[in-house]
Amino acid sequence: MRLDESVARRLRSPDFDRWMRGVSATGYCHNPVRLVGSSTTLHETSGEVLSEYASANESDGVTFTRCGNRRSRRCESCSHEYKGDTWHMIMAGAAGGMKDVPEQVAEHPMVFLTLTAPSFGAVHTTASDRRVGLCEHGRPTGCRCHHDIDDTQRGDAVCEDCYDYVGHVVWQYHAPELWRRFTIRLRRELARSLGLTQRAASRIVRLQFAKVAEFQRRGVVHFHAIIRIDGVHPEHPFPAPPTAVTTAHLLSAIGAAVRSTRTVAAPLPGEERGRTLVWGKQFDARAIVRRDDSYRNLGESSESLDSGPLSDRAVAAYIAKYATKATEDLEPTGAGRAHIKRIKSTVRELAATIDVEGPYGQLQRWDGMLGFRGHFSTKSRRYSVTLGSLRGARRTWRLQRLLEAARPSDDITADEVLVLGSWAYAGMGWLTDGDKALATNAADAARQWRDQRARDRRNPSTQRSTR
Ligand SMILES: [Zn+2]
Ligand SMILES: [Zn+2]
Ligand SMILES: [Zn+2]
Repeated sequence: MRLDESVARRLRSPDFDRWMRGVSATGYCHNPVRLVGSSTTLHETSGEVLSEYASANESDGVTFTRCGNRRSRRCESCSHEYKGDTWHMIMAGAAGGMKDVPEQVAEHPMVFLTLTAPSFGAVHTTASDRRVGLCEHGRPTGCRCHHDIDDTQRGDAVCEDCYDYVGHVVWQYHAPELWRRFTIRLRRELARSLGLTQRAASRIVRLQFAKVAEFQRRGVVHFHAIIRIDGVHPEHPFPAPPTAVTTAHLLSAIGAAVRSTRTVAAPLPGEERGRTLVWGKQFDARAIVRRDDSYRNLGESSESLDSGPLSDRAVAAYIAKYATKATEDLEPTGAGRAHIKRIKSTVRELAATIDVEGPYGQLQRWDGMLGFRGHFSTKSRRYSVTLGSLRGARRTWRLQRLLEAARPSDDITADEVLVLGSWAYAGMGWLTDGDKALATNAADAARQWRDQRARDRRNPSTQRSTR
């Protein structure tokens, strides 16, 4: 069937409105999961049936539900929802005052840290170095080209023959371990900066982290992290530390920990000794201060991250942006670049020579991630709320709306009901190309409407009349 016929058939169908409500219920997901089955909502104590739902009663006999994919190229809608959740999670831990995290967390000593990888050889950068000579291959030992920020050459090795691709991959493969060592080191250094033993310090302070990994142009990850000091309390989940514990203690501990963290990689085949892995000399640690008056434009803070203390909200917005952007960034910037291809082929070459039972056994799985096997966004248990609890809250909210619709007179909360369901997977995606085109158009319209609303909220003076 031709696309326009397929679209027309849906538009003319008597249950078009109902179908469209189903589309909107998936949040205009690009590739929804199709389910068949039914569920019954019961009152938990009385067993009374409050509502019944069956996919058989839907227009095509199936129920559509979100795909939940985090990548915007796969599903704009679901990645948007995930971004929103990640943003709330990170923001709640830095600024408090939402989702069960008290506002006082914003007053705890808190630092925004960026950790980089060391150099594996000169790459093209925006900063031009005049003092460069020539390498044994007759190429410059540094970049002196004055590149623009969006120059496609930026991040490429100046000399591919000099660049240590193996060192690059080995470091990247161990980056999560290096981070883990850093956190252990940091606890020790914090105790030292407080003049306490580690044991004594652990009774009064606890470190919380939220970190994201981001690929730099040179194809190596760096980490952005929010590090917060909490106190210790048997009942409260986010206690304040003793007032004598300050951001200055945290900053000095971070500096010492960054400089002293190291781990030794397992030797590669043919190597006598493993490489010693450290952080790059360039790291940036800055105090995060609470700044209520900067609370204007959450998503797109224009506050500079280049200098001075940072506001909690600017940092959370920045870090949350990377929490979801990171994995997607690589492909567009990496596509076609010889430097990135060379990193990938180095991963594959190493993977082909190693023992799959050995310490590099996982390497073969990660050539697409240039050898990085970590998560792009992680946090300590008590940093903030969990993504799961946000999803749970949203489910409860939806259930509550459903209950209100079903039983307008009753006062039943979502806690008191039990949902019994039996569902089976029936496939992925909209049923026809026509349905997909309609869902995509509806998604675009919804997005434009949302963006316009956001613009109107920011600039009330230029608000367009909507009627
Ligand atoms: Zn989706
Ligand atoms: Zn250059
Ligand atoms: Zn060279």
